[in-house]
Amino acid sequence: MGKEQKNVCAQHKGAERGQGACPVAKKCGGCQLQGIPYRKQLDQKHALVKQCVGDVRVLPPIGMTDPLHYRNKVHAAFGRDRKGNVICGVYESGTHRIVPVESCMIEDARADAIIATIRGLLKSFKIKTYDEDSGYGLLRHVMVRTAHATGEILVVLVLASPILPAKNNFVKALRAAHPEITSIVLNVNDRRTSMVLGERNILLYGKGYIEDELCGNRYRISPNSFYQVNAVQTAVLYKKAMEYAHLTGKETVIDAYCGIGTIGMTAAAHAKQVIGVELNPSAVKDAIANAKRNGCKNISFYNEDAGNYMRKLASVPARERVPVDVVFMDPPRRGSSETFLEAVTLLAPRRVVYISCDPHTLGRDLDYMRKHGYRIMECQPVDMFPYTDDIENVVLLEKTKTERKRTKNGLEIERTGKRNESERKSGTSKSGNRRHQEELRKARAAAGSRRPEASKPKSGKRTH
Ligand code: SAH
Repeated sequence: MGKEQKNVCAQHKGAERGQGACPVAKKCGGCQLQGIPYRKQLDQKHALVKQCVGDVRVLPPIGMTDPLHYRNKVHAAFGRDRKGNVICGVYESGTHRIVPVESCMIEDARADAIIATIRGLLKSFKIKTYDEDSGYGLLRHVMVRTAHATGEILVVLVLASPILPAKNNFVKALRAAHPEITSIVLNVNDRRTSMVLGERNILLYGKGYIEDELCGNRYRISPNSFYQVNAVQTAVLYKKAMEYAHLTGKETVIDAYCGIGTIGMTAAAHAKQVIGVELNPSAVKDAIANAKRNGCKNISFYNEDAGNYMRKLASVPARERVPVDVVFMDPPRRGSSETFLEAVTLLAPRRVVYISCDPHTLGRDLDYMRKHGYRIMECQPVDMFPYTDDIENVVLLEKTKTERKRTKNGLEIERTGKRNESERKSGTSKSGNRRHQEELRKARAAAGSRRPEASKPKSGKRTH
């Protein structure tokens, strides 16, 4: 057993006994469940999910055998301490003060080492860190992405200007210290914003993205695209999602909120055709390239708001459109929009597989679907984020029989849930709509968006 492996085991054992292994746990706030044995963490998450989703069979969460160093995307904010020394790390809970972090028990250790090297190089290259108050300085953040299966590593230097003095020598020095780096990108973020990444990327070395393998396909992942942060558990999650979808090769499938197309491409091998819908243009670009790379010919992508896309599809008379058999939906933390959910009920797929990282908004959306003709069959929590209070869920929804009959000819859908007199007359649920809107508003305010790919790691809460 190597030294590193021994350390990991000791750390894991300590964590298992509930000993907080992290010296900055309190200030950082990113690991809300520090000090709680892993088994107990899973039990807590199980209880939370059960509470949020109501009367649904919730299986025990699938946890990790080694729940440490799983994060394949690591951000570090750069700045100076009171003495003027360069520091890098995470923002202290509720502030914009940087808590220096040398190594983190949930982050990829290679990424942490690269960030430490960059910090050490700044002085000799006379690179100033950016000051949020004065707007003076250059280096704002470093983001490192590591690919679990291929080992590729992408370093993104987020600068306030497109010009990095002595950039060739800087790249040379960084690569000399870390030959494992496969690509380096300069990202320009010249706005006074809480977003980590700007839109412009300048290639300094390598391909400008990493490639990773997942469930038999290979994916390219650009700096601004979303990719699940825990590769080991993503494979577990997708396997369960495919099991729930029960594909036979004949189905038309929608992969809504598809990111770089990972769920859709995993499903495509077992379906007739797949349609992916995604709002982020960079992710759609990756998705199209990924489909080509994997020789996946029965998938197409739309760069659009998922709600708008579904509404347009649902407005085509049923006789004129191809029936949708299965919908995968994997919305951001704020959950789905009512436009989207309503369109799903109009399109009336036999099965909906809902993947969510926020049990609260999941519970709210399931409530809507339950009232509009879907039965919630089962919920499987998958622990993608050990030591934090986040939990991913995959849920199977099936169309109730009465509903399917009514929608065969494209007739209006009638809900199975109870409605009051005025709702029955108007044919809508105003209270339901109001409640949904109100909850959406609250959830947005409380959580922000789940995966604003480039948004600053809010103090105490990471963005996935
Ligand atoms: N299914 C993917 C990505 C899930 S993350 C995966 O497993 O990797 C959620 C995705 O929803 C992000 O890629 C985000 O850009 C996208 N998104 C956010 N709001 C959206 C909207 N209104 N319409 C479509 N996509 C949206």
